[in-house]
Amino acid sequence: MILSQAHFSVRTTCPYCGVGCGVKATPKGDGVVDIAGDIDHPANQGRLCVKGSALGETVSLDGRLLYPQVRDDDGLRRVSWDSALDKIVASWRAIIDEHGPDAVALYVSGQLLTEDYYIANKLMKGYVGSANIDTNSRLCMSSAVAGHKRAFGEDLVPVCYDDLELSDMVVLVGSNMAWCHPILFQRIARAKENRPEMKLVVIDPRRSATCELADLHLPIKPGTDVWLFNGLLSYLARIGAVDPAFVGQHTNGLDAALQTANEDCSDPAAVAKICRIELPALMEFYESFAATAKIITAFSMGVNQSSAGTDKVNSIINCHLIGGRIGKPGMGPFSITGQPNAMGGREVGGLANMLAAHMELDRADHRDLLQTFWDAPRMADRPGLKAVDLFHAIEAGTVKAVWIIATNPVVSLPDADQVKRALAKCELVVATDIMQNTDTNACAHVLLPALGWGEKDGTVTNSERRVSRQRAFLPAPGEARPDWQILCDFAQRMGYTGFDFSSVHQVFDEHARLSGHRNTADDMPRAFDMSGLAGLSRSDYDGLQPTQWPARRDASGQLRITERLFEDGRFAHADGKARFVATSPRAPANAVSQDYPLALNTGRVRDQWHTMTRTGKSPKLADHVAECFIDMHPQDALLHGVRAGELARVSTRWGAMVARVQHGGGIARGDVFVPIHWSGQTASDARVGALVNPVVDPVSGEPEFKHTPVRVEQFRVSWHGFILSRAELDLDSIAHWTRIQGREFARYELAGRNTIADFGTWARSLLGLADTDADADWIEYEDRSAGVYRAVHLVDDRIVQCIFLSPRQDMPSRAWLAGLFAKERLSEVDRVGLLVGQPVEKGADAGPTVCSCFGVGRNTICEAIRTQNLHSVQQVTACVKAGGNCGSCVPEIKQLLALTRAEAAA
Ligand code: SF4
Repeated sequence: MILSQAHFSVRTTCPYCGVGCGVKATPKGDGVVDIAGDIDHPANQGRLCVKGSALGETVSLDGRLLYPQVRDDDGLRRVSWDSALDKIVASWRAIIDEHGPDAVALYVSGQLLTEDYYIANKLMKGYVGSANIDTNSRLCMSSAVAGHKRAFGEDLVPVCYDDLELSDMVVLVGSNMAWCHPILFQRIARAKENRPEMKLVVIDPRRSATCELADLHLPIKPGTDVWLFNGLLSYLARIGAVDPAFVGQHTNGLDAALQTANEDCSDPAAVAKICRIELPALMEFYESFAATAKIITAFSMGVNQSSAGTDKVNSIINCHLIGGRIGKPGMGPFSITGQPNAMGGREVGGLANMLAAHMELDRADHRDLLQTFWDAPRMADRPGLKAVDLFHAIEAGTVKAVWIIATNPVVSLPDADQVKRALAKCELVVATDIMQNTDTNACAHVLLPALGWGEKDGTVTNSERRVSRQRAFLPAPGEARPDWQILCDFAQRMGYTGFDFSSVHQVFDEHARLSGHRNTADDMPRAFDMSGLAGLSRSDYDGLQPTQWPARRDASGQLRITERLFEDGRFAHADGKARFVATSPRAPANAVSQDYPLALNTGRVRDQWHTMTRTGKSPKLADHVAECFIDMHPQDALLHGVRAGELARVSTRWGAMVARVQHGGGIARGDVFVPIHWSGQTASDARVGALVNPVVDPVSGEPEFKHTPVRVEQFRVSWHGFILSRAELDLDSIAHWTRIQGREFARYELAGRNTIADFGTWARSLLGLADTDADADWIEYEDRSAGVYRAVHLVDDRIVQCIFLSPRQDMPSRAWLAGLFAKERLSEVDRVGLLVGQPVEKGADAGPTVCSCFGVGRNTICEAIRTQNLHSVQQVTACVKAGGNCGSCVPEIKQLLALTRAEAAA
């Protein structure tokens, strides 16, 4: 801890992406927490992206689940912890007795701390005796795990973040790093600024914000990655760009991999055609790869989330092995994890096909080791159900009780309506969460309150194998408890020994000890080893600095960590060699058709995280992308009868949703992109998970989120509108709505199909204004013939609610109106503006947010570019601050510079 002038600052770790940035949190009382980057954390060296910077806006108790609850015929009712846990114990015991241990399951999350994860896994695999524990990390990186295991013999990420800066060429595959791992992207951007000759290649069907920095963008057809990398392998072999010593001494399987690659991919022209890219661009990539020694190929969800995800990973690794580009500074394949603790989950065996401490379920010696170490009564001896299969088994009735922890599968899984159906049939659904209202909690019979970020204590491991502490700096609210403690309490009630931990530090110690147990070259060697952190005192654990594994102690007791793996050319397979894997290219499982002619790709937006249960609370993050959208090519939009700015119905064989059409400029003909964040809590019908095909990779079980055949049609409405309201509203009667968190208000974007006979009466009813409020200060304008209506509800000259309706999209700036909600009293000028439906004062409308850190809008930036004659991002930052903090908006500022300058020149 650091003692500041008047408040304690606590060093902790950001709970969002796998970069794992260090955060300095300073609670100021009354729920206010100052957030800053931790300058001493090696991952971010003091920087935070906009999501990390806004953490202080997400720690309020609004909407929190604070007490255990049980659902009965009258709905949810508060119960004691004893009562809730006894109910679960009674149900699990009865089900296990009658149907066996595989009839119960845990579905957990990469949001859990490693200690929580460790207990959950120990409970299921060693005591219940079933491997039916899977995690939402299955959805983001299980293909990387499987690829690593095939190539290296263990799930190992060879490189560290410094390697990105040391490389001469970074290849980003299926990664919009500028938005999804912004701090890593900025590290690359700074390295490139210092060494402009450093090359950045982006391989992605979309022209995303990441491409703004790219020297070369290959917009490959979705799903053709294996063709591209098999083509590269074939090319490298053909021109002799091979390291024969490395291949000969440290690898197996090149001939078979090469033979497969040569079958379809030896002709670059044919590969370019299949990948839908220009041949010169393909050759530029191949030639640069061959000519550069220090290459990092970083890959993310665009590679993993595919029915061929594991092969895609191995086709990338093959290209590094052939030239020996691994185990040395500045080179190697690099899987970047999506979640803050996906890596920690892998350490403890959080996936249904793994054991703790990187041991294997199908190895009897590993099972025996673990059973002895745990003194466990009943070890699972076969893989459990992976995420998608698990929810199918629940619907089929073979799994009768599921306990869902820190995740929201009714929104996030593919074919998400099937998940809802499954939970409706399940005998007992338990949900542990920090929020009261989620789509998944609505299906639960028992709700258990967990501690959230800032309240809980433990460790997480980031994408470069660095273990960091998440520390508590806020009191536990209500009756919320840490997840590890809830699970230990449950285990003890089940009669299991081995769960009598009195602190999270003891759990960590057992996890660290297990990693080193019988972990020697002549026994059962595993590269995953953090035994050097075993035996820490409580205060040493509390003060633990970010530490990479492997972390062992030498003979003199000194802690030795390994930044970069495979430096000695030894891999984790029994013979010490890496494996080339023959990867036969195959197309996505479901092809587009006449009925579903477009390919749906899903992903994240810059300022939101997962299903918005936390980031959705932050007004700072809400504005950048306020509504769910479908990004598509203008010609496809024309062909399918939809227009930018209007709503479209998007449907697949599995489900349907509504989203606003946009042309971001980065989508190829035949593709569409929809973000993943909206749930039933934030929009009437914008859960894209419901549309995604439940197809998985046969090796990893990871779903194909990046390719589902889809149809896009007009969503006809008769009016559009929006409301800003200090009170929460119930909008179930409206055909389409989205809720957006504002500062002291909620904004609702609306569209309706109904005919409104009397605007005033209808609006008052919707806004919850009773007749007794009939004489409230109510500014109203109506043009019946044009169908235009606006009304403002004021109390003591302070704006309380406003509503705007029109048959067209031509409505006032929300940014201007949001500004009025910040005022204690409206001026006469403001009132005039409300009547005419636009700001009267110059500069009052900043426009949609571009820079969330400083709240700088598009209009402000464009105006500055025009009037101040600005030509660079640095000049924009100096003038209006935008881009001066986390840098996530720099790609957008570049676009605005280009656009505004072009308009000025026209
Ligand atoms: S890049 Fe942003 S979201 Fe990711 S860990 Fe760092 S601050 Fe958090």
